[in-house]
Amino acid sequence: MAKQLQAIRGMNDILPEQTPTWGWLEEHVRHTLAQYGYREMRVPIVEFTSLFARGIGENTDVVEKEMYTFEDRGGDSLTLRPEATACCVRAGIQNSLFHNQQQRIWTSGPMFRYERPQKGRYRQFHQVSVETFGMDGPDIDAELILLTWSLWQKLGLDKHVTLELNTLGDLESRKKYREALIAYLEQHKDSLDEDSKRRMYANPLRVLDSKDRGTQSVLGDAPKLHDYIDDESREHFVKLCAILDDAGVKYIVNQRLVRGLDYYNRTVFEWITSALGSQGTVCGGGRYDGLVEQLGGKPVKACGFAMGVERLILLLETCNLVPEGVNKTVDAALVTFGEVGTYGMVLAERLREACPNLRLQVSCGGGSVKSQMKRADKSGAAIALVVGEDEKQNGTVTVKFLREDKPQLTCTFDELVAREELAG
Ligand code: ATP
Ligand code: MG
Repeated sequence: MAKQLQAIRGMNDILPEQTPTWGWLEEHVRHTLAQYGYREMRVPIVEFTSLFARGIGENTDVVEKEMYTFEDRGGDSLTLRPEATACCVRAGIQNSLFHNQQQRIWTSGPMFRYERPQKGRYRQFHQVSVETFGMDGPDIDAELILLTWSLWQKLGLDKHVTLELNTLGDLESRKKYREALIAYLEQHKDSLDEDSKRRMYANPLRVLDSKDRGTQSVLGDAPKLHDYIDDESREHFVKLCAILDDAGVKYIVNQRLVRGLDYYNRTVFEWITSALGSQGTVCGGGRYDGLVEQLGGKPVKACGFAMGVERLILLLETCNLVPEGVNKTVDAALVTFGEVGTYGMVLAERLREACPNLRLQVSCGGGSVKSQMKRADKSGAAIALVVGEDEKQNGTVTVKFLREDKPQLTCTFDELVAREELAG
């Protein structure tokens, strides 16, 4: 026998039994984004490598070691997108979406990162990415957070996530802080983990979110980012906090929250859960005022976030928040027996026309009534519609209840389509 083919490690099939949960989540996301006036944009999955190298930053985990990069047949270096912000910015510049305009945009789909696969961390995963352009905040920063909060409430996740918030200041204040931090880290170099030693000069802020114990203890006395923040950024942050306070959204200010990508300034935030181990961030984002210019556009203020769909689904499942009905995809099953010929198929078409919301599965492939009833039961349908020779003769259908202890009944087509079980 030929060797069984396998999917690439860390790239998952999302099976038919899982997609209803995905669809349910996606509907809530779509609905919430529409409530706030966001429009969908779809961008390619592959871009020139230089977009991410320039956009995300050379010294980030993503660009250093996580990208799927390859040469195409024409010799161009291409990369499977590891995130969508840079793609949206590229698309916005190319299609003149930013000129004298405000934009509220979202996009979603698979992202690719060469990471060690584990629960909540995959090599192909999905994000919903929400990006705004042309607004300098802090109201838009707050809107993005309120939007996520509204979504968590609808999903029942509000009790299971906490908001961490920080400001990184402007580029100048970050530069000053960077120098102070490097000077401090140099004095404690021996206690740092290898990654942090390596990053110390190239991307010292990233040392702040090292998970290494030794590094963590050194950081206790490190210079504090907030002592270096410029006045305007400070004011921006105070106003953002005031909106969140007034709206009743709780948050923790975490001065060590810097986020993994280079392009952030001022506001950064993460929604975190303790239910998923070290894969605890379900959503993260912030302001990236410099990115559009960095990628060749005119300067445009921007703020956005991305949420990880797999992690959200894991969390929803862990907390038992997926409603039972979500996995139900068939309302009724049509079972035929005897010499009814093509009657069943045609009847099913008439039923679907009369009841547009009805999800009706025809028991194709024949078999005994018993095996068809078994299939009907397995489909999850609440009722079986049974048609034999008598029913065909009389233009009736026999309804059997598969989940309730009720006697079967026989009704005409008109009586049947008037029943609430068929309304869908
Ligand atoms: P982490 O610190 O967990 O590696 P990150 O900072 O790299 O996350 P972002 O680039 O901010 O993640 O992406 C936004 C969200 O996408 C994350 O909060 C997470 O929910 C999700 N995400 C990121 N990487 C992965 C992955 N490899 N597998 C599944 N989800 C992911
Ligand atoms: Mg990461």
